[in-house]
Amino acid sequence: MEGNVSVFHPPETPCLECVLPAIDDRNLAGCDTRGVLGATAGIVGSIQAMETVKLLAGIESILKGKLLVCDFRRMEFDKVEIFRRKDCNTCGDKIGPMVERAQRLTWLCGRETINVNPIKPANLDFERTLKNLRRRFDVLVRSPVVIVLRHGGSEVSLFRNGRMLIRGVGTEDKALRIYRELSTFFAYVRSLSKD
Ligand SMILES: [Zn+2]
Repeated sequence: MEGNVSVFHPPETPCLECVLPAIDDRNLAGCDTRGVLGATAGIVGSIQAMETVKLLAGIESILKGKLLVCDFRRMEFDKVEIFRRKDCNTCGDKIGPMVERAQRLTWLCGRETINVNPIKPANLDFERTLKNLRRRFDVLVRSPVVIVLRHGGSEVSLFRNGRMLIRGVGTEDKALRIYRELSTFFAYVRSLSKD
């Protein structure tokens, strides 16, 4: 029955971490444990879409630096001001390793699977990478776009740009360890360009 919307466009505005610092998603109720009312997601999603269109079209948004608090039980909408924190871990003067980690890792709904992005997008030679991986791992699926393999109790889908979806992994640290281990099997497409 509640939703909050803001337009985060740092450094012009605060970022989410300025407003809700160091929140660990694992301690919050998620849509898989608590559920979400479809209409709430519908209304809030439409407001988000509207604000995104405005941002892309260069139309000024009143929600920059403000949080729209929606109370659907009472049908009340309030705007409260939010502020940028100088010592913010994400957009502040000192940016910590948390940021890199947050940009690379995303849990997918249900926390069954984690998406790990490469530090820099890769261009993998899938044939050679597959050959390397087959020496150590059980490859379940291979296609021009994805290689799926078993890694211990986890299932890993590897994409050509080096992105991995790791299913059945409990922690981010474990996901990063699997990522680092598997990336040693990568073979890169030799590029003719200078970089
Ligand atoms: Zn911030």
